[in-house]
Parts: sequence; C-alpha cells; structure tokens
Amino acid sequence: MTPAPVEPNSQLTIRQPLPQMVPGAVCAQCDVCCRFPESDSFLRPYFTRDEISAAVSLGVSTDLFDDPAGSQIALVKDPAGEGFHCPAFNPVTAQCGIYQSRPLDCRLYPLALMWNAGGDQVVLGWDTKCPFMREAIPDEIRLHGERVRDVLAQEDALRALSEHPRLIGRYQEDVVVLAPLPEVTRRVTALQPDRRLQPLRLTDASRMAQALHEAKILSQTALAAFAFPYHYVWTATLPYRWIERGGVFFLFAHSPDGWFMPLPPLGAGSFEDAVHEGVALMRQWNGVSPVSRIENLTDDQKNMLDPRLYHYASKSPDYVYRAKDLANLAGDPYKSQRALCNRAEREQPVRFRPYHSGDHDGCRALYRRWAAQKQQGQLDRMGQLLLEDAEAAHEIAWALGERFGLVGTVAVVREQIAAYTFGYWLEPATFAVLFEVADRAVPGLAQALFRNTCRTALRNGADRINAMDDAGLPGLQEAKAAYHPIAMTPSWIATAR
Ligand code: SF4
Repeated sequence: MTPAPVEPNSQLTIRQPLPQMVPGAVCAQCDVCCRFPESDSFLRPYFTRDEISAAVSLGVSTDLFDDPAGSQIALVKDPAGEGFHCPAFNPVTAQCGIYQSRPLDCRLYPLALMWNAGGDQVVLGWDTKCPFMREAIPDEIRLHGERVRDVLAQEDALRALSEHPRLIGRYQEDVVVLAPLPEVTRRVTALQPDRRLQPLRLTDASRMAQALHEAKILSQTALAAFAFPYHYVWTATLPYRWIERGGVFFLFAHSPDGWFMPLPPLGAGSFEDAVHEGVALMRQWNGVSPVSRIENLTDDQKNMLDPRLYHYASKSPDYVYRAKDLANLAGDPYKSQRALCNRAEREQPVRFRPYHSGDHDGCRALYRRWAAQKQQGQLDRMGQLLLEDAEAAHEIAWALGERFGLVGTVAVVREQIAAYTFGYWLEPATFAVLFEVADRAVPGLAQALFRNTCRTALRNGADRINAMDDAGLPGLQEAKAAYHPIAMTPSWIATAR
C-alpha cells in the first residue's frame, strides 16, 4: 500500500529545549513529582512513540506501555510507601532514571497543558500541587509561561501535540490558567473534529478484525486493504482515526488536504446507509472538498451504491496469483524469474529464516542501502517522498510487526541481512505481501525472496498470494504482470456527487 506521500513526520518530538523553572536540587528534595496515589492515576506521564523508544533504549520495559505508538506509562507499587511511582523513578535517590530523555509531559511540569473548563480551548497552566510554584513570584511564573508558550507555538511542537492529543489533559481546578493556546487548539481540533474519534492503535487490531468479519468481505477476492496491518504501518505517516457508530466501524485518515476514508465502512447493517453516514461526516469536517472520498471499494460494494449519488475512479487493482505457480516457477512463463533465482543462489550462499527482533538494525541498514540504490536510479520527487514515508512504515514493521500479525522473513548472505519481507494472512487461504526489500547489488535476490515467501505460504495453507497493487508505477506494473496473476481484483475510489 502506498498512500499519497506527505512530509515525513515520524520524528514527532519538540527539538528546542523547554525552559525549566524549578532547580533540579529543589525537585530532588520534594516528594510530589513522579509519585501517584492510585495505580491508574490520570496524571501518569504520557509518552509519544519517539519518547517510548528513547525510554526503552534506556532500559524501561516495553511492557509498561499499552501502545507503542503512544500511551501513559504503567505505574509500579512503591515498596516503601502506600502509593505508586513512575517506573523510571528511583525512590531511593529520588531521581528520574531517564532524566535527559524524559517525556514532554514531564519536561513541561509544573506547567501543564489542559482543556479549559468549557472544553473548547487548550490552555497552559501551572500546577498548584508543586510546592516550589506555590512560593514563586507571580511575575516569574508568568514570564516562564510565556517562554514555554513560545516553544509550543513552533511547528514541531504543534505537530507532536496534534498527533498526540492525550498530551492535553482534562481540566483541573488546581491548575491556574496562564494563557490560552489558540494555535494548539486549532491544530488539535483539526485532527479531532469529533471527540469520539480515536487514534488507530495497536490495541484496536482485534476491534478492526471483528468489524471486517462482520462486514463479510474476507473472501478470496478480498482486497489487501481489508486488514489491520495494511493501515497500521502507515500511522507514523498519516494520522488514522476511527469511530464506531451504530455498530459500524469507520476508519478515517487525515492527509494535508483533509479527511478521507481509506476503507469503506465495516459493519453488518445497510452498506449504503453507512456510506452516506461516512460521507456526511467527512463533509462536516472538510467542507465541500474533493478530498472527501472512500478508497478500496470492491466491485460488489460499488454496485450496492446508487450511481446517481457517487462517481468512481479506479485505483490500481490487487495482483493475485496462484501460490503453487509462484512456489514452483515452472515452465516457460516463469523462465526468466527461475533463471534469476538460480543465479542468486548459485553466486552466493543465501539463507532464509524468520525475522526476529534482533534483526531490526540489520533491516534498517539494508533499507537505507536499498533506498540509496533506488535514488541512484531515476526517482522523481514523488518517488523520493514515498521512500521517506516508507521508512517510517518499515520501522513499525521491524519493531512491532509480530504484535499485529506480520510474518517476516530475512535473507542472509555472508552473515549480513541482504533482503527481507513482511506479509500477513488476509484470510486463511490468501497470504498478502506487504513489503519486500532486497539488496539490488545481488542479482536475483528479490526473485528468490519472493519465491521463498510463496513456498512458505503454500506450505502453511495458502492457495493464493496477493501482491497488492502497483501504485500506478509502470516498472512495478511490468514486474507484477510478469508473474502472471490469475486475478486482478478491482479497487474503486468513490466520491459523492
Ligand atoms: S519519566 Fe522521570 S520525570 Fe517523568 S514521571 Fe517518570 S521518573 Fe518522573
């Protein structure tokens, strides 16, 4: 899957240091911060995806985060006291073990971001629970607030806050409001036009799987897009949100132009009614804009809609192959692919094995080598943006793939990862290939990897291989056609007239 490229936003961090008001030595003497009376306190610090990675690299367990894309940290019981504390906090030394990499939530404190009492404005306030601030000179607090407000008005901060709205807490009476943050409000509400919209998280995989099951669309003619992994890997690039209304699951994504639906609505009721509802929501959020569209409709779904109300554009179809054909590569039609596989295996020892988490760095190094090789070819600006976006998606696959059903394989040549692939089971007889990266300096390796994927899938019960679409790229179109698909599953984009 290749969504329209946007400027990469995988590094959602605030680069400029945040001014600090409370001296570190004072903090070390205090017994308020980092400790909480209840294990599920709403004041637990929230970590963004990048902050989780930084904390994990410093020894904080991944198990303490519900969702690696962003979540509050789980607290641990204080062995000496009655309450709980942040697991990064050392109660003996009263110090934070990840101080230099602590999350924005903690760097801001004793200032806090929250919604105002009316719930319609994001404001910056200071927390009266902080003993230092209770003694501070009001003008100093005000000046400090202004300096922090200026940092929060910068683009990297606005993007981090809009992508992680949970950094903005609920209204607290004991937090004194310093200033409204109108630009933060605007950016957050642009990505949250309806309070019921939820970011697509790892923990939503089972809800989406249930919705796909209820929609009864998972057959051998299913589009590769009818799967959680297909969308989840792009959440570092495009904000994805979902909402459930009347038992129907609506998935939305936000491009720089506005909201669209990367999937038709999923539910058991009237498809046409659900589509009208999805379109009405997009119109409410986007106004009259052609960006409001529903992608990845099948022929059957298209036929269920009144053609007087929608017009359709065809998207590149999915290429579907017989697994046995690609596992064997027998006969004349596959002569050239067979020759390339033989060449790859003849010229160097190639070993295929399942991906494991220790392969992360090797895959990243390969990805960058491969991207550089592609850039030496004739890549236009669009192709370059796609490559940049794709690295963030591959990062998600390397780090978390096995947690949401991705099956990974690496090819090892001379003790180095020279190729890798990730895919998933679309339905029990169809394996979908999501990513494939092979060192271009090794002729035939990409073909050998693909054959290995198809052999493994066949052994595990696949009858079909879905190699996704060609994104309208002529080179990809030619390569996919050369494998002789048995079906090209049509895919439509519907826009209301
Ligand atoms: S991350 Fe550090 S500063 Fe933040 S709550 Fe945990 S121990 Fe305290």
